[in-house]
Amino acid sequence: MRPGDAVPPSGPVAVSDEMAAHFRATLLTHADDPESRVCVRCGRSRCDEWRWAYERLVLAGRLGDLPPRGYTPEG
Ligand SMILES: [Zn+2]
Repeated sequence: MRPGDAVPPSGPVAVSDEMAAHFRATLLTHADDPESRVCVRCGRSRCDEWRWAYERLVLAGRLGDLPPRGYTPEG
């Protein structure tokens, strides 16, 4: 590869277990509330924070690690 080439790496983006856990926590924190149907933090459905973490997990091929739908971290 020559200097100046801006070729993105192919394949899944490597994400450490720590980062994957962080993204999953973000997804849960910013998940849509079952009743109001929006993120309780941002007041928006599928808010920017949620989408950002979601995309990172998809790119890393780690989306399958997510807990089942409806799971809540604190009761
Ligand atoms: Zn949010």
